[in-house]
Amino acid sequence: MSWSDLAMNGRILIVDDAMENIQILHHALRDEHDVLFALGGEKALQIAHNQMPDLILLDAVMPGMDGYEVCSALRSSAAVRDIPVIFVTALTHPEDETRALEAGAVDFISKPFNVAVVRARVRTQLTIKRQADAMRELTLTDALTGVANRRSFNETMENEWRRCARSNTTMALIMIDIDHFKNYNDAYGHQAGDVCLQQVSAAMKRCAGRPPDMLARYGGEEFIILLPQVGVDGAEVVAQRILDEVRLLKIPHKASSVGPEVTVSMGVSTVQPTEESDSSSLIRSADALLYRAKETGRNRYCMSPGD
Ligand code: GH3
Ligand code: MG
Ligand code: MG
Repeated sequence: MSWSDLAMNGRILIVDDAMENIQILHHALRDEHDVLFALGGEKALQIAHNQMPDLILLDAVMPGMDGYEVCSALRSSAAVRDIPVIFVTALTHPEDETRALEAGAVDFISKPFNVAVVRARVRTQLTIKRQADAMRELTLTDALTGVANRRSFNETMENEWRRCARSNTTMALIMIDIDHFKNYNDAYGHQAGDVCLQQVSAAMKRCAGRPPDMLARYGGEEFIILLPQVGVDGAEVVAQRILDEVRLLKIPHKASSVGPEVTVSMGVSTVQPTEESDSSSLIRSADALLYRAKETGRNRYCMSPGD
């Protein structure tokens, strides 16, 4: 699939206080795209948050909240900041165009517009958006296992920490390390080791699949699971499930002191996040508990005594 194919079928939000303008744009774009519309600024922001369009065509002059205000509001919200905005307006002064670009618009189309030009500019912006999305996805994903990487984990952890602090809910963390993995590589080769990492991570993914849960590769053969809004009992259920799922894989490991198959050890820690604290002590605690699981025989999870 080429980048221009990817520009097809994007979801576009048209914002204009005049229904006839919406109709003309809708007519021009409906064959290639999924088109949404709003007759005012407030409604546009609401739809942007709920429907996550790939592109917004925004009228500059509207009663109430005008296009510039809508654009600034979009730029100040992390969830919708990356949605590109094209201004579509009867204003023709260079200052209007500058003002739109300064408000964060990526392009500017003057009314009356030529439908073919609108289509072409929409396609261009959708292509750029898709490329940016794909790049972002790449920078946040571990290439070998396809799960989140450490950078992605750090970002999510920061957001979820604040969210749990605000909503006064606990958060759990599971640090996971494959047992005797160096021996596994030595016995079966590095490529087999890679396949093992893929199988174990896929199995763990099955254990923590709710939307706010996150499995990430923390480094080497070490993984981490973030469980926002989860307490001690919930975290223990996930840890037990991981032991079971990894056992079911039955990956032979002739160089392990634990048994004939691949196993993992885990440290499980829970905390009530606060606005004043950060996640470093939670991570340290899960790491220390993982170390204890290793010391006390591996193929198990450890939780702190209070848990
Ligand atoms: P323990 O049970 O105490 O965790 O011992 P271990 O051998 O698993 O731990 P150690 O930290 O000594 O070794 C980790 C090994 O993981 C060494 C390294 O070569 C291997 N490893 C790290 N990343 C990869 C990878 O991407 N692919 C493969 N095949 N091996 C990896
Ligand atoms: Mg290990
Ligand atoms: Mg390790």
